[in-house]
Amino acid sequence: MTAMLGSKTNWFLRVAVALAAAMILGKAAGAQGQDFSKVQIKAAKVSGNIYMLEGAGGNIAASVGDDGIVIVDDQYAPLADKIQAALKDLKITDKPVRFVINTHYHGDHTGGNAPFATSGSTVIAQDNVRKRLETGGLAGNGGSLRMENAPAPKAALPVITFDHDVTVHLNGEDIRALHFPAGHTDGDAVIFFPKNNVVHMGDDFVRYGFPFIDVASGGSVQGMIAAMEKVSAELPADVKVIPGHGALSNLDDVRAFVKMLKETSAAVQKAIDEHKTVDQMKQEKILAPWSKWSGEFIDSDKFIETLYNSLTGTKGEFMKHN
Ligand SMILES: [Zn+2]
Repeated sequence: MTAMLGSKTNWFLRVAVALAAAMILGKAAGAQGQDFSKVQIKAAKVSGNIYMLEGAGGNIAASVGDDGIVIVDDQYAPLADKIQAALKDLKITDKPVRFVINTHYHGDHTGGNAPFATSGSTVIAQDNVRKRLETGGLAGNGGSLRMENAPAPKAALPVITFDHDVTVHLNGEDIRALHFPAGHTDGDAVIFFPKNNVVHMGDDFVRYGFPFIDVASGGSVQGMIAAMEKVSAELPADVKVIPGHGALSNLDDVRAFVKMLKETSAAVQKAIDEHKTVDQMKQEKILAPWSKWSGEFIDSDKFIETLYNSLTGTKGEFMKHN
């Protein structure tokens, strides 16, 4: 009886996690069932000719000017028309979205690739983004968080890919996408708008609490720390930071995030060195000092799993649903 209750509870938990994950990853059935009709796209000026668009899914950065429009990430396919309308409503240019740059492959950042490509935009991304979109596969934290991504349609695949970096010269700016390996995923790019002093971090920096690190797709906490430390060391102190999810931020916010990642990693590493199991770490609530970061999507237990798997190189096995 206890066992039955236990497995039922687990099943409910798995469903709850899958739904939360769907909101972030955007590829699962849960996301397709999401009602996008009520989503409004809010565009706000960040600096100069750079705008930030929020709707559902990852934040969009837009360079809007005489040469046309470049956007970074494109949320979900059903929102593409609303995103186009919001860009038109700025009344800055009638020229189209010429380029879409993806920060990584997750569906809440690339879902609009196909409709944007169909209406004439060229999609640019790191090599691994195209590979992962093309093949589909497992996303997850190497533990209880697992999401299967179906292969993306051909129209959604980036047409231009890069290994290390690429620069788009438009609207008087050298918009640069730089690859940071093994952070949120293995195909992350941080996008710099140097003239306007703006950066889009993708999901290497998010504001929803403990981050989702897609260990199953080559992500790692070590890579996320390295990426954010390198970026924050090189950028001007007053740079405006667009996170993958959440409100416009600054470098102090990024530093607080990195500090938390380092401290929680050290706590889990210490427990690993003491030969504790993941269950013991959860029972002992070893991340309690950082509980303010525990969120709906990635709570302390999920983050213990993430850090454990990341620090031990465990990618997790995909378990099919019954
Ligand atoms: Zn993501």
